Amino acid sequence: MNYISTRGGTTAKDNLHSADAIKQGLAHDGGLFMPETIPTVTMDEIVALSRESYPARAAAILGKFLDDYPADELCAYCEAAYADARFPGGAAPLHKLNDTVHVMELWHGPTCAFKDMALQIMPKLLSGALRITGEERTALILVATSGDTGKAALEGYRDIDQVKIMVYYPVDGVSKMQKLQMATQEGGNVRVCAIRGNFDDAQTGVKKIFSDPAAADALNEKGIFLSSANSINWGRLVPQVAYYFSAYCDLLASGEIKAGEEINVSVPTGNFGNIFAGYIAKQMGLPVKRFLCASNKNNILTDFLATGVYDRNRDFYTTMSPSMDILISSNLERLLYLKTGTAETAAYMQSLSKCGRYEITPEAKASIDADFTGYFCDEENTVRVIRETFENAQYLIDTHTAVGLSAAQQYIAETGDTTKMIVDSTASPYKFASNVLRSLTGNAPADEFEALEELSRVTGTEIPAPLASLKTKTVRFTEIIDPAEMLAKTLAD
Ligand SMILES: *Cc1c(COP(=O)(O)O)cnc(C)c1O
Repeated sequence: MNYISTRGGTTAKDNLHSADAIKQGLAHDGGLFMPETIPTVTMDEIVALSRESYPARAAAILGKFLDDYPADELCAYCEAAYADARFPGGAAPLHKLNDTVHVMELWHGPTCAFKDMALQIMPKLLSGALRITGEERTALILVATSGDTGKAALEGYRDIDQVKIMVYYPVDGVSKMQKLQMATQEGGNVRVCAIRGNFDDAQTGVKKIFSDPAAADALNEKGIFLSSANSINWGRLVPQVAYYFSAYCDLLASGEIKAGEEINVSVPTGNFGNIFAGYIAKQMGLPVKRFLCASNKNNILTDFLATGVYDRNRDFYTTMSPSMDILISSNLERLLYLKTGTAETAAYMQSLSKCGRYEITPEAKASIDADFTGYFCDEENTVRVIRETFENAQYLIDTHTAVGLSAAQQYIAETGDTTKMIVDSTASPYKFASNVLRSLTGNAPADEFEALEELSRVTGTEIPAPLASLKTKTVRFTEIIDPAEMLAKTLAD
């Protein structure tokens, strides 16, 4: 299977396979890699998968896209990545909230956010890619994070051969728990550094290093090349396609739906990676009627889906769901490519970079409307949804999941549609314990570990072991630098 750029600069003639796309991360024309054609899955295959374990389901889906990897190797990767020891509560279990809504819990991995679903396996895919492409240099994974990606990438890439990882995070732009998770990271090949500034400053600094030919030369002399772990990398997205099939399999297995029946899906969205993975599943043949794109107060996607105008010239808000505080949703480019082709996509992206805005054609908008509806949930309603869900259903959700559940509730109230609805739950409530506790009780202790314990006491639920154990871990990384020092820091090793 050949991979091509969403902006048309790389075509099937270039003969790039999935290993190249995963190693390279971003196409040379600045576009994102996509498979030239989307493979299909039949309903018979889905029914057969419903009798399989999560790792077997994931290996089947991965194999459709990564056909340059040996099939038995993909199976071994999935068995190791999604083993019970890594995901003690199961990889993507469903929780039935009511007759319509089923919550898919994607946060049982080592860092308690859904990023683990991809980042537990992506390092194995990269190691495989280095071998398949005969690469002898070391990959340096450079990450700018607003919290969850950094920790999940550190945990995934730690002590992987021929790989190093460097993570930058904004010193005041992540939660206390997220900061502690990163500062205590173990592993011989990891570095973590805080920068003075916000997430955009960190992101801009990293992008500058990626596009600096002198930096590439300096690293190359040391036998190092740069690679990325963000959802612009196809290796991040393809493992996420699998859990949409898995959710459908679970609904089949429990008799909630019949083979072929449609479902709806609601996704708390930031970079548009998770929801786009769901859309790929639909393209492959999964019967999904509608995707609800759920945003917090940073509702640029809600506006885009309603009007066809994407305009980042607006205020940026810091919210209780920080992993969705984002104004440029990179993976939307992949949807535009599928709906409009390379030429239109390249023009939209150029307009976005020049004026921070683009407007899609009425035809493109109609085509997107057929699959997606946007909703948003402000801070007040996030609090309300967390409280009501616990009071009415004794089910504890985090701030991001609350945004997704709110979208599902708004849609159901508007349409009366009783089609089974999957709501993606993207983080453990304990990862955002003070805000969750404050939503339930009106206040929270200043100390984050006290908040964990209080939340456990009030709700009778258990603190996830990876968060509880942070209290006794040694802090290894305390350095704070200016964005201007990032290049020198990256090159020094
Ligand atoms: C990253 C993240 C999101 C947003 O996912 P995208 O793929 O960027 O849309 C939502 N919730 C949590 C908890 C996250 O960490």
